[in-house]
Amino acid sequence: MPGSSDKTFYLETFGCQMNVHDSEKVIGTLLQQGYRQVPTVEEAGLVLYNTCSIRDKAEQKVFHRLNDYKKLLAQGKKFGVLGCVAQQEGEKIFERAPYVSLVAGSASYRHLPAMLVQIENGQRSTGLDDRQTDECFETELTARTNPYRGYITIIEGCDKFCAYCVVPYTRGKERSRTSQSVLAEARQLADLGYSEIQLLGQNVNSYRDPQQTITFAELLLAIGEVQGIERVRFTTSHPRDFTRDIVDAIDASPALCDHVHLPVQSGSTRVLDAMQRLYTRDEYLERIAWIHGARRDISLTSDLIVGFPGETEREFEETLSLLDAVGYDSAFTFKYSPRPNTPAIGLEDAIPDEEKSRRLAVLNEKQRQISAHRNKRHIGDIVRVMVEGKNEARGQWIGRTSQIKVLNFTAGAGADFKAGSYVDVMVTTTFPNSLVGVACE
Ligand code: SAM
Ligand code: SF4
Repeated sequence: MPGSSDKTFYLETFGCQMNVHDSEKVIGTLLQQGYRQVPTVEEAGLVLYNTCSIRDKAEQKVFHRLNDYKKLLAQGKKFGVLGCVAQQEGEKIFERAPYVSLVAGSASYRHLPAMLVQIENGQRSTGLDDRQTDECFETELTARTNPYRGYITIIEGCDKFCAYCVVPYTRGKERSRTSQSVLAEARQLADLGYSEIQLLGQNVNSYRDPQQTITFAELLLAIGEVQGIERVRFTTSHPRDFTRDIVDAIDASPALCDHVHLPVQSGSTRVLDAMQRLYTRDEYLERIAWIHGARRDISLTSDLIVGFPGETEREFEETLSLLDAVGYDSAFTFKYSPRPNTPAIGLEDAIPDEEKSRRLAVLNEKQRQISAHRNKRHIGDIVRVMVEGKNEARGQWIGRTSQIKVLNFTAGAGADFKAGSYVDVMVTTTFPNSLVGVACE
């Protein structure tokens, strides 16, 4: 590794928004320890991968990537594996890739400064706190990459143990930050000029203030009151912990966005039970009825899994009928993939991959039709968007609605909009995955 006067690192991130935000905090920590971030592996003394193991053979991809760069070892580079694959595979990573110096799961990131010193001294370092810690990774040193949307993790880990999911094993126990520290971070972001805040957690609405001063819905209201914050989003909500006061908060606070991401996974109560999701189809639909009953037009999105072990054709059809009953604006859909250490790994993964693919295609086509139909209702609406950028080739600005839809729009000659600014746009055309419009003068 180059000398301490020029400590450089390259960091590549895989996976969810939580990982992306964890990486912002890891980068801030490294910068504070005197490291400089570089854009290529070739330029770096320390190469880090922040990994995801939620689906597929993610761990194999990481080993392939490490293998590709083995030849760079001779140049004195060091390698580290962070995130879910690190926690899941643990010290096995050293056996399969002996040239790796650092293996750390997200529950250990608060020890990063000490771990960096160890690897700089030529030692190996492991941070595999797993489910032992009650502490969150709080840092003042977040290197934020998005200049207008600030992410704040309010709860880490998960205690739900869905039968298919690695998260409780890779991200540790569920632990919430104090509302005091969350609000302080929100005010700090507003002072820095951020106008949108996105609260993050594997189950953001399972939030429990450790000082028991406020509920999740009250925290939403308090963040909506922060001067300068125009939009507040929160993801992901777990249906079991979704309470009516969250809908009341959205109705009461203009800053809270018109959107709830409430993953259902399956429309069949039998499959939900096998998945250990902790709610029935009817209980889920009860929560949807609260949201449909709101004064605001709250957009709903979801995650769905097809081909969970034992899912019959009839049970799959219950998922299709649930899409009609809810009317999601969009959904992330996945084929079930068996994951190490999870309870479902013991069940026979008997549904052939071709059948999972067929169900996925049927589900996607149905959701595409629902999204297309639902987007048409916006034609003629004037919708406020936050500008995210411009597509020069098409001469269109890219905006994001409160309902989290992409709205591409044009404007009169000479118009210029900065990323992060807000514009009112009239919707003229709709597609299943986006809206098109013209800026209002
Ligand atoms: N905590 C959130 C919840 O309970 O809805 C989900 C977080 S998880 C990181 C994101 C999504 O990945 C899940 O909602 C699920 O649809 C999908 N997922 C997780 N494990 C999976 C598996 N083994 N196979 C397929 N999809 C999976
Ligand atoms: Fe995974 Fe279930 Fe926890 Fe979501 S609630 S992170 S799907 S175990």
